[in-house]
Amino acid sequence: MPYIGRFAPSPTGPLHAGSLVAAFASWLDARSHDGQWLVRIEDVDTPRCIASADQLILQQLAICGLVPDAPVMWQSQRSDAYQAALDNLIAKGWAYPCGCSRKEIEDAQALIGHARERHTAAVYPGTCRDGLNGKAARAWRLNVQRVIDDSKLDTPLAWHDRLLGPQQQDVATEVGDFVLRRADGLWAYQLAVVVDDAAQGITNIVRGEDLTDNTARQILLQHALGLPTPSYMHTPLVLGENGEKLSKQNGATALDVSQPLLALQNAAHALGLPKFSDGASIEQALSEWTKAWQEMSSPVPR
Ligand code: GLU
Repeated sequence: MPYIGRFAPSPTGPLHAGSLVAAFASWLDARSHDGQWLVRIEDVDTPRCIASADQLILQQLAICGLVPDAPVMWQSQRSDAYQAALDNLIAKGWAYPCGCSRKEIEDAQALIGHARERHTAAVYPGTCRDGLNGKAARAWRLNVQRVIDDSKLDTPLAWHDRLLGPQQQDVATEVGDFVLRRADGLWAYQLAVVVDDAAQGITNIVRGEDLTDNTARQILLQHALGLPTPSYMHTPLVLGENGEKLSKQNGATALDVSQPLLALQNAAHALGLPKFSDGASIEQALSEWTKAWQEMSSPVPR
């Protein structure tokens, strides 16, 4: 089966050491399967995007020898496809408008005694599932239980991660009716990522472990939209000196690509790969790492 992988950065800043690891792991896995490697710029959350960060990311990747095999896709140009997917879900009775403000959701949660704990998103209590009760529509949500019932899906939803092994999540109770289109009119990550992975024919997703928790929602949406489910693998995160995940939000510094081999060596080390041979060019080092990745029975020992 042909392999198509991808790296899907959000242009909220330049690449940092952690995002290079995710990019490199997806590239290595594609190369070691003789597959294609694509890049998609996930610029739907426009308030968080930084002008020209997309170009900077593409340049940083290219300097490291990581060049996509097809033209780059920008999510900001894909609204029609997301609208078509939402229309499809509405037509099946699986998406509904929600008029709740964040405050109303939190109040309803407090009433039923749910603490707000998973990430920052509260489990939606289902207030608008059966109608807006005179409120104006703000966001669009997926009716998770209805998709599960109508599609006869098992609960909890079970899936396999190539590295982490068997995973499961009860999406209805642990996540709830998640947002497809936000109250500010922007497309939600979950919808955009599923529509685009299918549009680009992605067969294998290799990405950072911080996204593991999103996978069950994405598989549910794939079922709802009649799209294939790719294989998933989540790689360990690079932690900063304070033990926290490296991210642009907590001030990770931009990746220094003035010495690309050094940047790649650090990423390779995080992935459990050996040092490249002395005097190797970037191309030679990349091909050594591809071989080493291929030879690891379970890449990225934990
Ligand atoms: N754009 C997402 C991020 O940068 C990654 C999406 C994905 O790989 O599924 O966190």
